Amino acid sequence: MAQLISERRDIDFVLYEQLGIEAIAGTEKYNDLNRKVFDMIVTEARNFAIKEILPTYAEGDREGVHLVDGRVKVPECFRRPYKLFAEGEWIAMTEDPEIGGQGLPHVIKQAAYDYLVGANFAFTAFAILGHGTGKMIEIFGTGKQKDLFLEKVYSGIWAGTMLLTEPEAGSDVGALTTTAVKNDDGTYSITGSKIFITCGDHDITENIIHPVLARVEGAPRGSKGISIFLVPKYWVNDDGSLGEFNDIVCTGVEEKMGIHGSPTCSLSLGSKGKCRGLLLGEENKGLAIMFHMMNEARLGVGAQGYLHGSAAYLYAVNYARERLQGRDIARGKDPDAPQVPIIRHPDVRRMLLRMKALVDGMRSFTFYVAYCFDRQECAADQTEKDYWQGLIELLTPVVKSYCSDRGLEVCDQALNVFGGYGYTREYPVEQLLRDCKIATIYEGTNGIQAMDLLGRKLGMKKGAVFMSFLTEIQKTIAEAGKISGLEKWAEA
Ligand SMILES: Cc1cc2nc3c(=O)[nH]c(=O)nc-3n(C[C@H](O)[C@H](O)[C@H](O)COP(=O)(O)OP(=O)(O)OC[C@H]3O[C@@H](n4cnc5c(N)ncnc54)[C@H](O)[C@@H]3O)c2cc1C
Repeated sequence: MAQLISERRDIDFVLYEQLGIEAIAGTEKYNDLNRKVFDMIVTEARNFAIKEILPTYAEGDREGVHLVDGRVKVPECFRRPYKLFAEGEWIAMTEDPEIGGQGLPHVIKQAAYDYLVGANFAFTAFAILGHGTGKMIEIFGTGKQKDLFLEKVYSGIWAGTMLLTEPEAGSDVGALTTTAVKNDDGTYSITGSKIFITCGDHDITENIIHPVLARVEGAPRGSKGISIFLVPKYWVNDDGSLGEFNDIVCTGVEEKMGIHGSPTCSLSLGSKGKCRGLLLGEENKGLAIMFHMMNEARLGVGAQGYLHGSAAYLYAVNYARERLQGRDIARGKDPDAPQVPIIRHPDVRRMLLRMKALVDGMRSFTFYVAYCFDRQECAADQTEKDYWQGLIELLTPVVKSYCSDRGLEVCDQALNVFGGYGYTREYPVEQLLRDCKIATIYEGTNGIQAMDLLGRKLGMKKGAVFMSFLTEIQKTIAEAGKISGLEKWAEA
């Protein structure tokens, strides 16, 4: 059977031959895991993605989302796979089993997500935003907040979001004007308007926990005066039951170029003065807390770009093997020569080879960064932890921007391989190209990622983190130099 979404052999190559991830199976954290378990999980993810999620890709795009009586309706075909996704515990794979996770390595999650996310990002976003929301609660929440929300979002019973953007505050998050006023009972009244909110409203879960950036009265201007609040769509009572509607109204969903199955919502908070939120962490520390989710989301968006490219490449290579057109270049002038599959044409091979090289590179890169998380969590001491953490921070904007830009390039090339057919809705590559584009824009445009890399990341620890990265590259080159046939490239 033709490979779909992501090439399994190439996944295994990166996991076992490039990164050698079996090494972490023996560590204290993962001592009950082994390659057999890893393989089983990736296989299960692949089967689930191909059987249940992939069929929703075109259908979700065509049906789209609809705002009906102030509520967003998701594509019907998303409901069954969402239920299975949540029941299969795919949302919080890396988290502690006691709070709804599976205790698995990040790199295995990344391999599983190759299929789960690659099958339909617009669908998977409903589930994975819950993880990012939960992670902030796990790290910064009070005991009560954890009791109320954590398991619910990690298990997908409730969904998550991230509410940063406002009309005057896009790249410049510090310009936001949503306000928070402290009430006598310790909650905050939230008032403001947010736009472009992914999964900002929907009916796929019974509740949504919105992490909202807002400014407490009298807070400093700019990003130093931003706090973060947990604002449930339906208030959650102390006993965990659902209370009243929390005055968060969806005022519109965007008509957009791609990811039609993903609602991009305008939200009005507190227009009736009845929207309440719970402070997460301390006042004025909101942006730093939100960065925990944003960094996860940036890596996810990089993977989104890579995976659209991966799927597009596989469609293109499969098509190129079957589409007959033109004659073999060696018999180009022979009218009796048979038509050949287009994969025989040098220009088509050139496109496919570049696509394959880019996809393999992006897979290797995204898996490497996921593995840095595992190395950090399994580190023997704080120095080693800091080392891996530094690499994660340095590489996050690069994964986000490189993989979204190159993923888009691969989708574009894939469409070229299909010729005119690629431009039609008969084949999936036009949708992949449309859906991929957003990855270069949200979670901070790629221009903003470049500024993050240059302005913040390269100078971390007076350049020591970047130097560590260069050392890692040198190590790889030295290893490559030991492989027969690669010596001269290692010397170059
Ligand atoms: C489909 C979709 C889903 C989204 N989901 C969410 C979500 O869930 N939550 C959320 O909060 N937001 C979300 N967003 C918003 C998204 O993150 C922003 O659109 C993005 O960060 C850019 O902001 P902007 O659109 O206001 O563009 P602008 O900030 O106006 O930027 C326009 C251009 O100017 C450049 N630019 C801006 N400032 C600078 C600068 N200082 N230096 C150099 N160049 C600069 C940008 O790089 C860009 O090229 C979503 C957007 C879309 C389209």
